[in-house]
Order: sequence, then C-alpha cells, then structure tokens
Amino acid sequence: MPGFELFGDAERKELNDVLENGVLMRYGFDGMRNGHWKARQLEQELENKFQVKHAQLVSSGTAAVSIALASAGIGAGDEVIMPVFTFVASFEAIMILGAIPILVDIDDTLTLDPKAVEEAITRKTKAIMPVHMCGSMANLDTLLNICKKHNLVLIEDSSQATGATYRGKPLGSIGDLGCLSLDYVKIITCGEGGAVLTNYETYYKHSDHFSDHGHDHIGNDRGAETHPFLGYNFRISELNAAVGLAQLRRLDEFVAIQKKNYTILRNALSKIPQITFRTVPEGGVESYSFLSFFLPDLETARKATTALKEAGVDGCFHYYDNNWHYIRKWEHLKTLKTLYPLSAEVKEGLKYLKTKSFSQSDHFIGRNISCLIKLSWTEKEVVNRSQKMVEIISKYLV
Ligand SMILES: *Cc1c(COP(=O)(O)O)cnc(C)c1O
Repeated sequence: MPGFELFGDAERKELNDVLENGVLMRYGFDGMRNGHWKARQLEQELENKFQVKHAQLVSSGTAAVSIALASAGIGAGDEVIMPVFTFVASFEAIMILGAIPILVDIDDTLTLDPKAVEEAITRKTKAIMPVHMCGSMANLDTLLNICKKHNLVLIEDSSQATGATYRGKPLGSIGDLGCLSLDYVKIITCGEGGAVLTNYETYYKHSDHFSDHGHDHIGNDRGAETHPFLGYNFRISELNAAVGLAQLRRLDEFVAIQKKNYTILRNALSKIPQITFRTVPEGGVESYSFLSFFLPDLETARKATTALKEAGVDGCFHYYDNNWHYIRKWEHLKTLKTLYPLSAEVKEGLKYLKTKSFSQSDHFIGRNISCLIKLSWTEKEVVNRSQKMVEIISKYLV
C-alpha cells in the first residue's frame, strides 16, 4: 500500500530541484528559488487530481483535520460526530480545538453508521466527520442528506482512501472539506504532510492563513502581511512537497497495482463460504489498499490472525485487539489523560465514553480482518500468499 515501497528516481529528481537552490521554505525567497515552488505546484496538481477548487498543503493529516474544523468555525464546546473505528488522530484533532468528539458506531462498511449518526445529533453538533478507513468509504449520500437536514458541515477524513472514488468523484472532494494524510505509511507520501481540500473560497482562505500564523499572504513583503485572525504553524516544507509531487503523479499506477493484487487475494478468499467482505456503498470504488473481510465470530478471527502471523503472512490486522485504531483500547481517551487541564464543558461532554456500549461496532470489528495490499509483491508472491491464507483460515472454520 504505502508509496514508500516504490520510492525512486522521480522523487529524487523533484527533491534535487529543492536541494540545488536551498529554498526549503514554501513562501517567499522568490529570487533564490530558480522558479521552483514545489508546495504551490503540488497544490495545483492536487486540485486537478481531486477535482476541487482549492487544496491547502499542511504539515500532517492530523493538522489537516484540525485546520478543516477551525476553517469551518468549529471550536470550544462544539460537538463533532466521528466513528469509533479510525486512528487516534481523529479525536486528537477535534480536542486540540476545545471541541468534543462524539464517537458513534460503525456498520458493515467499517465506517460511520448513518443511523448512529442521526441518533447522536444534539443542538451542539456542528459537523459530521466520516473516516474512510482502509481504502473504502462511508455512505456519503446519506450523510450529506443528514448534514443538509440539520445544517451541519461534512468533513471527510480521507487519510486512508487516497485514490478511491464515490459516484465518480474522488474521496475527499465530496464533503464541505476533505482531509488527506501524506505521511510515510499512506497510499502516497510526502514523508510527513497533509492537505485540506474544499470548493469553498472562504474555507480555503481560512486554511491558508491559519496554517501559517494567520498571515494574509498578500503582497511580496512577508513582514508587511497582516493577520485577519490568529493562526498557528502547520506549514509543509518544500522538501516534503517535492516528494509528494512525484508520488501524486504515480497515484493511478499505485492504485492499479493494488487493484491487481487485491483481486487475486479476494478471488481466492471468496471460495470460502463462511467469509463475507466489507460492504462498499453503492457507487463506491475502493483504493484497494486493504482487503477487509469478516469471519463468523470473534474467536475465529482472533485465532486466524494469530495463525497467519505465525505462518509469516504479515500485514493482516485484527483491529479489535489493536491499540491505535479502535475505541476498545483507548484508555487514555476514556480516562481523559491529558498534560493540561480540560475545560469543564469538555470533561462533561466526554463522560459518555465511560459507559456507552459499542456492541454493534464490536460485532463488526471483532469479526474483521483487514489485510494490507503491498505494491512490491510479485504475482507469484500474491498467489502463494492467497493459497496460504485460504489454507490457514479454513482450518478454523467448520
Ligand atoms: C494517518 C491518519 C491520520 C493522520 O495523519 P498524519 O499525517 O499521520 O497526521 C488521520 N486519520 C486517519 C484515519 C489516518 O489513518
């Protein structure tokens, strides 16, 4: 899956442009940079690729989510609905603004269950944030309708689904704002980086200023820029952007390789009648970065995952027992372990985490195994791996 598997000459060439003139900063230094504006260029290419009016590159995917929320005016005491299956970044990005993450169940798409979303809406709700986990998506039409009905902002966390589409549109381009991660283990990488995508000029301006100390970016005299509002530093460097440029140009190639490997694996596993696959919403096309399937029960999934690992079949995740991606193991969130005091309102707003049951999500995550699809596998390796997986998993099924 990750772009680093095919890191090479194209990335080196883009990087060398930056190293040769030494301008590592994305803004200013016009006379020294020999015409190289890697961050700007990558933003333009992201806009084309994702069919959006604006892309703002930033320092990480986590930053992109915080910036998207801030750009939509979401902050202290506001509630943001998000899924229990994601990466810890999702609630971190909400809480850093003083907002309250409201975690709700997922369904067999492994993403937000629209019914659970509707039930969680209160007068404090400001946004719904689906997270398109493991290369596939939430039911976006239903979520868009809910947003319209309740006047909420839809923010897509598309960090794990670069290259996937929904009704012909790239994920990340469908909500009011979309967030990408370009970290080292994502489908394409900058090393570290992220992007905010939007069709709204105001959100874009907010993202552009907020990610660079609130500077308005008007004129050529950096010190003369004014500050329409307070910001922070979430800038990306030219070095990171250069790598991302080469990677973005190879996205279609990466997805095609993933699709080929995914299909071989899926066809093999399909022969096991007790296996079902995650539901992809109608109109959705995956990025094929993971193959996610369900076994009949929790214990079978646990045993099969252990057996796969022991047999040297790497990259198969049972997220139920994983510390990073599922609420069951997020003790630090449930007990509110922070370095700094939280507001009384946030503490009160997060009390539900201690008591709420997520048995519906347990039912899906408990039975799920998600297998990373690598770009570097040869066809022979995929075929061997498929046979091995079928053999091992079948042992645990009656
Ligand atoms: C990776 C990831 C992020 C955060 O991205 P970083 O670039 O590592 O900060 C956010 N959400 C999800 C679902 C992710 O997988």
